[in-house]
Amino acid sequence: MKVTVDEDKCCGAGTCVMVAPDVFDQREDDGVVVLLDVQPTADLHESVREAANMCPAAAIALDEQS
Ligand code: SF4
Repeated sequence: MKVTVDEDKCCGAGTCVMVAPDVFDQREDDGVVVLLDVQPTADLHESVREAANMCPAAAIALDEQS
């Protein structure tokens, strides 16, 4: 799995950070998402999918084939 985030779309809601804190963080100044792990291990995939589904800005894209 390969994860990408669109910083321009992100509205800083922080949902992804709550759901998958090993993969996502937020910038301290404006709350925009910071991607910590581009290719998370298999044990994290479920939470990453959940984070992508819950993101209110649809700013998280997943490539399941990578
Ligand atoms: S859930 Fe979406 S909008 Fe919220 S911080 Fe994460 S990427 Fe940004």
